[in-house]
Amino acid sequence: MSSIALTLSLLLAAAPSPLEAGAAASNITPPLGTLIVGGFAPYPSQHVHDELHARCLVLDDGETKIALVVCDLLGVHRSVSVEARRLIQETTGIPPQNVLISATHTHSAGTALGKNRYANEQTLDDYQQFVAQRISDGVRRAVNLLRPAEIAFATVDVPEHVFNRRWLMRKGSVPANPFGKVDKVKTNPPVRSPDLIEPAGPIDPAVSILALREPGGPPIAVYCAYSLHYVGGSGPAHVSADYYGIFCETLERLQSDGDGDPPFVAMLANGTSGDINNIDRLNPQSGGGPYHRMREVAEDLAAKVNGALAGMSWQGAAPLAARFSEPRLAWREVGPDLMAWAADVEARAPRVPDGNIPVGAKWATTREFVTPLSYAGRVQSLAETAEPAFVPLQVLRIGDVCIGTSPCETFAEIGLEFKRRSPLPHSFMVSLAHGYIGYLPTPRHIELGGYETWPGTNYLEPQASEKMLDALIQMAAEIAPHPGEKK
Ligand SMILES: [Zn+2]
Repeated sequence: MSSIALTLSLLLAAAPSPLEAGAAASNITPPLGTLIVGGFAPYPSQHVHDELHARCLVLDDGETKIALVVCDLLGVHRSVSVEARRLIQETTGIPPQNVLISATHTHSAGTALGKNRYANEQTLDDYQQFVAQRISDGVRRAVNLLRPAEIAFATVDVPEHVFNRRWLMRKGSVPANPFGKVDKVKTNPPVRSPDLIEPAGPIDPAVSILALREPGGPPIAVYCAYSLHYVGGSGPAHVSADYYGIFCETLERLQSDGDGDPPFVAMLANGTSGDINNIDRLNPQSGGGPYHRMREVAEDLAAKVNGALAGMSWQGAAPLAARFSEPRLAWREVGPDLMAWAADVEARAPRVPDGNIPVGAKWATTREFVTPLSYAGRVQSLAETAEPAFVPLQVLRIGDVCIGTSPCETFAEIGLEFKRRSPLPHSFMVSLAHGYIGYLPTPRHIELGGYETWPGTNYLEPQASEKMLDALIQMAAEIAPHPGEKK
């Protein structure tokens, strides 16, 4: 080899590899009649308002491929993620630790959670197997569509749609919880109540926006995360992807008139929204019919993301890396008092022959017993868990961007702390990833009480959020750019 050719090949070796990206969306709508699982008592679907999707994005820096998948589901059980990632590795070679699978948390979808929420592993039912297969197919299609790409990142603050739903209340105004105790915090208190003092935690107003386009050309995909629980207000017994679906459709229209080939794919993941919803307790928005509020929020958010995309600065390379770990954490402890309470509720709750069975309960009951019976079943199941919880945690590096994941309905302040502590300049969290392990409050919030902290809505030990955050930050440090690294 001549010295010029040698120099050239060394230069090429040192240059950052050009980035490639591809995206595809798989339909995961279940058949009508499938139970919708957002509330305490599931009910059969009678109509599809809009189709559910697993939206998939694959990035390739020449050495490493990563995949990001967002599913229109309340949650995905850990076993669904394990199976989908196994299929993805089999068909594309992308290793399981490099694939991020999360749920949006739409409350109007079929369930991919399976029968026992406290089981680390379960045999997949037909719908769970279908979802795993469709996720894998979507990633495989995205790999087929890999093409040279530029990448950009921005955030835009949209505080007007996010409200902390946990309120400190005047003494004596909080009703007893299902366990007969009085909490310091009330979740979703009555609007304009004179007993409202202040929200018990912050909001995170930022939309994180990761954008991919063909060099100087048409958009490939936009992956966003926003910390809003969901909006709700779908039609009766409707299947719907909630505001996540409308957001994606709207952004697709704004970015490509919906006619790109291959199609542009918009994605909206759930950030850290465990204590955040769309209801302004002090100045409540006027109602409107089904989908009205959902559409307002989605269209406004899409317009703001679209505006941010116009001013982004694009790069042709982004080193990719991933870390995955699965620490074992203790489940929320269920003491003898709680077990006695559960036995008492089960003894008192009347059994009715018709009607839907509350989540966690063994039989249908009258209206006033739905919530207590649901919690009685949940705490008994929690107490029966033999092995500790497997808690999937993942960190992805995409250039200067870092995504950390949690398998829980994660409180906003945990996401804010991840952003503060992460060694990468642009960091954010995605919740409901690789599993569904209940709400994730901080120890301070568990002291305050309220719906999200009750045993059965909160599944993990009180210190779980701190242990998980420490583990995420440690993994982020491992893949952070080292000084002098070429980008
Ligand atoms: Zn929720």
